[in-house]
Amino acid sequence: MMVSRDADLELRRLKERLVVLTDEAAKNEIILRRSQARELDLLNAQDLPVLLRLLTQGLADSYGLNAVTLLVTDPDHRVRHLLMGSGHSLEAFAGVHFVDSLTGMAPQFGSFHKPWLGPYLGADHQLVFPSVQNLRSIALMPLRRQERPVGSLNFGSSDPARFTRHHATDFLNHLATIASFCLENGVNRALLVRSGVTDVLTGWHNRRYLQARLQEELARARRDASALICLLLDVDHFKKVNDTYGHLAGDNVLKEIAARVNDEVRESDVAARFGGEEFAILLPDSGLDSARRFAERVRAAVSASPIDTGSDSAVTVTVSIGIASIRPTADAEDLKSLGEQLLAEADVALYRAKAEGRDRVAHNC
Ligand code: GH3
Ligand code: MG
Ligand code: MG
Repeated sequence: MMVSRDADLELRRLKERLVVLTDEAAKNEIILRRSQARELDLLNAQDLPVLLRLLTQGLADSYGLNAVTLLVTDPDHRVRHLLMGSGHSLEAFAGVHFVDSLTGMAPQFGSFHKPWLGPYLGADHQLVFPSVQNLRSIALMPLRRQERPVGSLNFGSSDPARFTRHHATDFLNHLATIASFCLENGVNRALLVRSGVTDVLTGWHNRRYLQARLQEELARARRDASALICLLLDVDHFKKVNDTYGHLAGDNVLKEIAARVNDEVRESDVAARFGGEEFAILLPDSGLDSARRFAERVRAAVSASPIDTGSDSAVTVTVSIGIASIRPTADAEDLKSLGEQLLAEADVALYRAKAEGRDRVAHNC
């Protein structure tokens, strides 16, 4: 009789344990599936900006974390230039911080080969989670590529029990490996895309880039009800430079012209080598008067002093500049045609500057 009661009890206990275990397995299954979905998202990120957002806000949302930051080691500012070059403002990536090196950012980064889980200490971890309050536990994950540290992915929670040294780190290790791979891949892809929109001779953007940015700037002008101004610049009698000094000398002169123009161009302007010895500059947020003054400055800068041809001779060159302006209406839809119209009008103005004697600015507004 007693034996049977004990057996009953034991059976019930086992059944309860089985329910708990099944429940836990189901929960683990959900976590695993969610993690796999997150990892697939990271691997499928279409470009670097999307990836950076997935790695920060995306992971914070998925895992219900109070903070996720990403430290990216970028000593030569390469990644920052890639983002800025494709029209992104660095402030748009909350939680992403670019650093020269991880050293000094947190004591754990001294020898940082696997995820570190433990309590948040303001004195130690403030630089890793700037402007985040109320963190109690954190996980710091090294991002490495070929043994090189490329950054750190950092999770923060207000729950002191969320990350402790007793937790297994396999999952975080796995995530960090995927994140490292995606980051490197994203940067490489962005470099590749940029090389497709960069002119090799001058280092300026090329026509393809200008066409893409033209649409963006027109969309912005439509939204802000502002005008977009376009300058087309063509070197005067450039054939003669080639004919007199040779093609290589022509290249040198062209490079120096591009550099002189570039010195006048602001960060917010969009400048591109439009064709052989033609350059285009888009001026957002600019009035016609200031655009004209800008064009005069550019014109004067090019002819200010003779340019070395690279073969013991120097030549003074001049440029002609055409200016056009467009103000997209709120209901404008075909931005591609508007862009073509703007360029065509700038070209008409340029033609007039040539016809009126070159080395001058003409506008068609
Ligand atoms: P205009 O004042 O009417 O513009 O006279 P131009 O001689 O500049 O005439 P045009 O614009 O028709 O000629 C441009 C010349 O620039 C022809 C082309 O061979 C040369 N050119 C275009 N791209 C390059 C380049 O990358 N390097 C060199 N060296 N020459 C180039
Ligand atoms: Mg030309
Ligand atoms: Mg020319």
